[in-house]
Amino acid sequence: MGATDTAAKRAIPAGFESAHVTPDGYRNMYETSVSDPAAFWGEEGKRLDWIQPYSKVKDTNFDFGSVSIKWFEDGVLNVAANCIDRHLDTRGDQVAIIWEPDDPATPAKHITYRELHENVCRMANVFLSQGVMRGDRVVIYLPMIPEAAYAMLACARIGAIHSIVFAGFSPDALANRINDCGAKLVITADTAPRGGRRTPLKANTDAALLHCSDRVRCLVVKHTGDQTTWIDGRDVDVLALMQTAAPDCPVRPMGAEDPLFILYTSGSTGKPKGVVHTSGGYLVYAAMTHQYTFDYKDGDIFWCTADVGWVTGHSYIIYGPLANGATTVMFEGVPTYPDAGRFWEVCAKHKVNQFYTAPTAIRALMGQGPEWVEKHDLSDLRILGTVGEPINPEAWTWYDKHVGKGKCPIVDTWWQTETGGHLITPLPGATETKPGSATLPFFGVKPVVLEAESGKVVEGNGVEGVLCIGDSWPGQMRTVWGDHQRFQETYFQQYKGYYFTGDGCRRDEDGYYWITGRVDDVINVSGHRMGTAEVESALVAHEKVAEAAVVGYPHEIKGQGIYAYVTLMKGVEPTDDLRKELVKWVRTEIGPIASPDLIQWAPGLPKTRSGKIMRRILRKIAENDYGALGDTSTLADPSVVDDLIDNRMNRG
Ligand code: ATP
Ligand code: MG
Repeated sequence: MGATDTAAKRAIPAGFESAHVTPDGYRNMYETSVSDPAAFWGEEGKRLDWIQPYSKVKDTNFDFGSVSIKWFEDGVLNVAANCIDRHLDTRGDQVAIIWEPDDPATPAKHITYRELHENVCRMANVFLSQGVMRGDRVVIYLPMIPEAAYAMLACARIGAIHSIVFAGFSPDALANRINDCGAKLVITADTAPRGGRRTPLKANTDAALLHCSDRVRCLVVKHTGDQTTWIDGRDVDVLALMQTAAPDCPVRPMGAEDPLFILYTSGSTGKPKGVVHTSGGYLVYAAMTHQYTFDYKDGDIFWCTADVGWVTGHSYIIYGPLANGATTVMFEGVPTYPDAGRFWEVCAKHKVNQFYTAPTAIRALMGQGPEWVEKHDLSDLRILGTVGEPINPEAWTWYDKHVGKGKCPIVDTWWQTETGGHLITPLPGATETKPGSATLPFFGVKPVVLEAESGKVVEGNGVEGVLCIGDSWPGQMRTVWGDHQRFQETYFQQYKGYYFTGDGCRRDEDGYYWITGRVDDVINVSGHRMGTAEVESALVAHEKVAEAAVVGYPHEIKGQGIYAYVTLMKGVEPTDDLRKELVKWVRTEIGPIASPDLIQWAPGLPKTRSGKIMRRILRKIAENDYGALGDTSTLADPSVVDDLIDNRMNRG
């Protein structure tokens, strides 16, 4: 296994000699970061402004039963002051947020740090007037509009804890989250334009609130002006109140370990968990990874295409960039509206320097052909990033060639909602890359590979196993909201003394890490364990395949067979000959052991709202057990599931 291990490294492109981190710099800094973490992070913590400096840096314990994680614990700071106020003297008139609306005909907005300050203060004053106090929870159910950023930072300013619920989620999913965190207030909008369609957010919120305490207040941003119902005494027109609210609001001094936000994980694997991140360590880590992973320099225009409803949006649209005084792009729309060139049009329009997106978007755009990219001037792009899933080498190469023109380092960032920021990632000026590998650990991160069954540490290179992390880093989640026991059981019980990521990985001969997929998704064919990512990458490498998802299913002889769902490129006919061709293709790419037993043509794949393939559902269909699909409330498009069930290949 592992044909890609020996793939040639891609040299660092020219022009990165003066990057923040160089190859030698990386080696030295990494060494210090893991040999003396307290000293290393004690220095890094100084990138923030502290109202009261910390004297203790690290107090962390991974022992099951007494897991406790604290960083900078006696320091006092305010996250909003670090993201806004401290920049006002030096860059008050610099643009903080460029807002690009769904409809390209609507003008973009350029919000300076000074304007951001005023809007956040006004919103904070509105929250205070609604009785929101330090430690109270505020649910944010907003589209990608500047008010979402104002609401996050307004919470941080007054010490309230925000929990963002992605604007594509259903009333049920919203109600569950409001109830789980006991929110005092929810802020939403009338409707949300996305890809030319409108989601009725206020109506969804009305439906959700039927299942919540009647004390929950509802603040509404009148964004589109669409008609909505209005319940006097509960619903509040937030923009109207902001106009009369005071334009200044003092910051609340907060402890480093006071919660900043709760974010429910996306639900690829089961019941969402309320991941809790705190103030000091999270912000240090988000700011540092943003600066180094993207080699961010003053004056750069940074665009992360994620939604603020995901952790990627928290760390790399809002907190990391703003802590660094950056200009960050916030995009309301989708990659394919009004056409498949939208991303590249926006890059050209705003002269974007760093562009960060997900493999699912790259694969979708790759399927539309390179002509959409070629139409636009991408000469300002310097760095490209991906996150969310393993990126298939095929998609990596396409991204490199057509978008980066071979000049832009690609940072394939591996991390999780739980980790707050990047854990394994190349750094543009320091790391030679390999298509499909997340490469090397970030500062302070100690990846450990364990044997899945025995939990024994696997030393050396050219090895494979489950991925754990050996010590804490400041961006780590602190607990599951209201359920510290679940936190310990999920991440610290199975492999004692380690943080268990749930992902499998390979460490190749060069010590590079390759994420092979979730451990739950590992397939065991005749005793050979195999990650799904590898088989999928082989399939996607075929010129007629746009996307593929692979799962195991019970097989009489082999124990588990390989069941592949394949989406073909636009215009390709699904035939039996093509099926045979694909099986042969995988045999030659990886080996006979990886040949798919069943291939089902899939016009679409079930994905979470953040674009990840939900293999849990595909497994059920492959097992012919489609009556019990489990929680499907986080599916982006439930209708694709019906088609897959109707055309399932295993009816035994
Ligand atoms: P849930 O935990 O609720 O099931 P989720 O794991 O999809 O949902 P996230 O925290 O958004 O929620 O995703 C983290 C996971 O995404 C990682 O554990 C890994 O499986 C995958 N992932 C993220 N980035 C990468 C990457 N660069 N390469 C490979 N896999 C990645
Ligand atoms: Mg997860």
